[in-house]
Amino acid sequence: MVENVLQLRCECNNYPWGKTGKESLAAQLCSKIPNTDFKIEEGKNYSEMWMGTYPELPSYVLKTGENLQDVLNANKEQLIGKTVLDKFGADLPFLPKILSIQKALPLQIHPDIELSKKLHKQDPEKFSDENHKPEIAVALSDFEAFCGFKPKADIQHLLKFERLQQFDPQPGKWTDDTLREVCKAMLTADEKTVASTLEALKEIPKSDLGNQVYIHDLIPQLIDQYGSSDNGNLVALLMMNYLTFKPGEAIWIPADGIHAYLRGDIVECMARSNNVINTGFCPKADRDSVDVFVQALTFQQHDPEKPVLPRHKCEHTSTGKSSMFHPPMSEFNMIVTELKSGEKDSLKGVKGPSIAFTTSGKGTMKADGKSYDASAGAIFFIGQGIEVSYESSSDDFAVYRAYAE
Ligand SMILES: [Zn+2]
Repeated sequence: MVENVLQLRCECNNYPWGKTGKESLAAQLCSKIPNTDFKIEEGKNYSEMWMGTYPELPSYVLKTGENLQDVLNANKEQLIGKTVLDKFGADLPFLPKILSIQKALPLQIHPDIELSKKLHKQDPEKFSDENHKPEIAVALSDFEAFCGFKPKADIQHLLKFERLQQFDPQPGKWTDDTLREVCKAMLTADEKTVASTLEALKEIPKSDLGNQVYIHDLIPQLIDQYGSSDNGNLVALLMMNYLTFKPGEAIWIPADGIHAYLRGDIVECMARSNNVINTGFCPKADRDSVDVFVQALTFQQHDPEKPVLPRHKCEHTSTGKSSMFHPPMSEFNMIVTELKSGEKDSLKGVKGPSIAFTTSGKGTMKADGKSYDASAGAIFFIGQGIEVSYESSSDDFAVYRAYAE
């Protein structure tokens, strides 16, 4: 019989927005995986470590080298369990990642299921599955992101200034369709217009910007990253919420929700998909259809509070030392166990598969009659129903665990 707890070997990709060399937490954690031959190269970008079974960057069982999904397929009832098999099938329904962000990720949305099906049919190379990809991000360091739309009044306030009025199709009451129109105008503006609009924005006195005075500091940073002609600059600065988070704070992004993460190390977890539509903060050749993008946009997150994901008490902990996130999507929840040296916690089994990974500190994990070194870099698949207990030997021991139920 296959073991219920499988330690994993995971890999890191190298998008150009990733932090370089040892600066990258994703790379550091990859390099701490036991018996790995992964070596951090100085100057190389390390953007995302993936911990799941999505075919593009799958995880392997450390001991045997088998692809985790193959093991799950051969042992569905035991490892995944009926509840989740009935709901999602044998493919792991969630995909946790560690992201180390040095500069803005592309301005993007992840299409909903209906649009994903359509795009996958049209272009299966580029849209490699038929699923949606709502996601959460938990900050591991200070974290900055653009996400969702600002209150309409804040956008309208900016478009009243000279040389920005060209983007205001109708003064007065705006609907969500007006926002689509404004967004489209900004995404299709030519390079000269983008650059001159940024110049105009720079010239607005700080005292006239009210709660949006942060824009002044961000303009040079964004120009430094993607140049003054990238259309992403306009949408991010003029239309989107700019949010900053402390370690431990989290956000969620619904399907079709506009976002562009800007800086920091995060735990990200999403439904099993890799579909994305990019329209800014990337080379022109990598941009997708602006029409498809603006048509798909959702306006659920219409103020800076909406994307914030609260932390709850954990239902599974014996000591109260673990907490959890319940994002408004059915594919996964996330438990966070943070212990000081000498502290313990144990977690009751859940009715579906989990992936647990240590982001910092030293400690041990006991599960299914065995004891494991669970220090930073340890990543485990945990089968349904298995109780797990932790003991920390450092003050910064932190384990994140995504599970479906
Ligand atoms: Zn995303």
